[in-house]
Amino acid sequence: MTAHQRAHVVVIGGGQAGLAAGFYLRRAGADFVILDAQDKPGGAWRHAWPSLRLFSPAQYSSLPGWMMPPTPHGGYPTAADAVGYLTDYEQRYDLPVIRPVTVRAVRREDDGLLVETDTGTWHGRYVISTTGTWWRPYIPHYPGRGDIGGQQLHTADYSGPEPFQGQNVIIVGGGNSAAQILAELSTVANTTWVTRRPPRLLPDAIDGKALFDLATRRQHALAVGETGTSISDLGDIVAVPSVRDARDRGALKAEPMFARITRTGVAWRDGTEQSCDAILWCTGFRPALLHLSPLRLRRHNGLVATEGTRALTEPRLHLLGYGDWTGPASATLIGASRTARATVAEIMGHPTRSTTRTT
Ligand code: FAD
Repeated sequence: MTAHQRAHVVVIGGGQAGLAAGFYLRRAGADFVILDAQDKPGGAWRHAWPSLRLFSPAQYSSLPGWMMPPTPHGGYPTAADAVGYLTDYEQRYDLPVIRPVTVRAVRREDDGLLVETDTGTWHGRYVISTTGTWWRPYIPHYPGRGDIGGQQLHTADYSGPEPFQGQNVIIVGGGNSAAQILAELSTVANTTWVTRRPPRLLPDAIDGKALFDLATRRQHALAVGETGTSISDLGDIVAVPSVRDARDRGALKAEPMFARITRTGVAWRDGTEQSCDAILWCTGFRPALLHLSPLRLRRHNGLVATEGTRALTEPRLHLLGYGDWTGPASATLIGASRTARATVAEIMGHPTRSTTRTT
């Protein structure tokens, strides 16, 4: 039988959330390893379209310990800036990232968790899963989806406006990806934007830093039995400069969802049809948690039930970075830090604060 490699903490995923956990593990003197499926640093940012802009200036898009340097081009950082930052961050703190290693399954053992990968097995007393969402694109079901003659793509496939020059494109979705992609596609293609409910732009003053502050205030309010303002009470779309520009030229007009997809395009609810060359589904992602399925974790509202970041039915497992359910704004660079610090403190036996239960 092959011996397992061992570490006190095995972190699965080397994106921003995995690195934030790594920073605090390193600081705590923990014996740990980070296993990452990518062959280079940067996590999901490596795959984002070139014009994507972060929600906040560099100093508010930073992991613990070291701020993202101001961008050379001025303005909000791009996905490439985020990749550069995460690459340097990993080196700066000498984080023990092993790649490419894909974790296939996590299983229970008496004294910890067994992590099965495509290159061997690891045994961890604790596991922190930080695998993100990019790897599980979500497309809702609509009648006729398999019939269309034109192209269907998801945000995850989008790499820029060039292939759509002069085409008729239907963009589906009411979030940030849809708004940012629409903003640039509408300058080269005939775009139709469809959303399930009218899109809601956040006020111009709300950026990533303000979102983080709001999420934090709301969590504190919930902890003392008050409701607090939810971000979704204010809107869904951050008005980054390209989105403001599109708004100001009237390109951000949305139609209600179509009724079905036809061979040549879509049919609206009144029965009229519209042809298109492509449908672009900017309909989000789901947490990439396939590797955890052997654990049969208890679920709540489709998510793993947690207390803070600890899985309720497997206390040796923590989930970090997937969304507000794993810490306020924990899917952002600025938000990952606080939750990572609390997670590591709990694992190392000195919790910093009481945690919220998601059940
Ligand atoms: P990821 O970056 O996805 O990293 C997970 C890592 O785990 C990857 O390297 C992956 O390969 C690896 N992995 C996955 N499965 C396995 C496995 N089974 N075994 C081993 N490794 C595995 N965020 C911000 O902070 N600020 C912003 O301004 C911002 N703006 C955004 C704008 C738009 C339009 C969009 C779409 C997103 C934006 N985000 C922003 C969100 C951000 O892109 C992601 O939330 C972030 O990359 C998530 O980081 P993560 O570390 O949790 O996951």
